[in-house]
Amino acid sequence: MVNSCLSCSACTSGWENHCESATGPTLTSGGYLIQQGDNFTTLGAWSDRLVVREEFVVKIPPGLDISKVAPLMCPGTATYGPLKRFGIKKGDSVGIVGIGGPGHLAVMMAKAMGARVVAFTTSEAKKEVAEAIGADLVVLSTNKDAMNGLYRSLDYVLSTIPNAFDPSPYLATLKRRGTMTVMGLLGPYKGVLNNLSLAAWGLKLTGSMIGSVVETRETLEFFADNGLVPIVEMIKLDEINEAIGRLKKADVRFRFVIDLKA
Ligand SMILES: [Zn+2]
Repeated sequence: MVNSCLSCSACTSGWENHCESATGPTLTSGGYLIQQGDNFTTLGAWSDRLVVREEFVVKIPPGLDISKVAPLMCPGTATYGPLKRFGIKKGDSVGIVGIGGPGHLAVMMAKAMGARVVAFTTSEAKKEVAEAIGADLVVLSTNKDAMNGLYRSLDYVLSTIPNAFDPSPYLATLKRRGTMTVMGLLGPYKGVLNNLSLAAWGLKLTGSMIGSVVETRETLEFFADNGLVPIVEMIKLDEINEAIGRLKKADVRFRFVIDLKA
């Protein structure tokens, strides 16, 4: 996010990411959140120059490796925000669904907040790395017995699946009155959600996209204070075609960072 109206009730409460103006906030890439049909856009890291008003500039704390910071700006703050808002604390059982760019950051943060972390993945190959970054239990979401074994056992679930999926199996792992936040999915769920799963146990299903400026700042500080480091693969500009080919196969641990100086 590089701009917002700064005068609506959301902006004046420190929630620029929820700006209620006609355009919504101006995103770093892709222009306004709510398109106005005027072809206005922003190009993010593809820009020659970036003009950002000072309210939207955050300081990178000393001690954070600049080559590892970029993933914290979007997936980092979009997962830190809900973990903080829903008060994740020592002793909570927290499920993180999808161990990729945002998911691996969420595992690290939930662990650092003191939670017992259950990582859900469809990939057996991610078990080892999920454990290495703090998951206490890694569950293959395709394993029905393992999923049934977690029935009504988690305080909170954060999904980072970006594609249409069915949240029902994850809602079944929540304790009564628990909350599931879906970050990354910006379209319909797969199939039709049966509201009985929410109504019978008083569950809450919420969403997250980017964070506020304060949350973005706090995310950077949280990583610096806890000595956490996102896992990235550094590439040179001339390796970008190969990287995009690998991205299409979801073959990256866990974000590519382009070294523009190389
Ligand atoms: Zn506003």
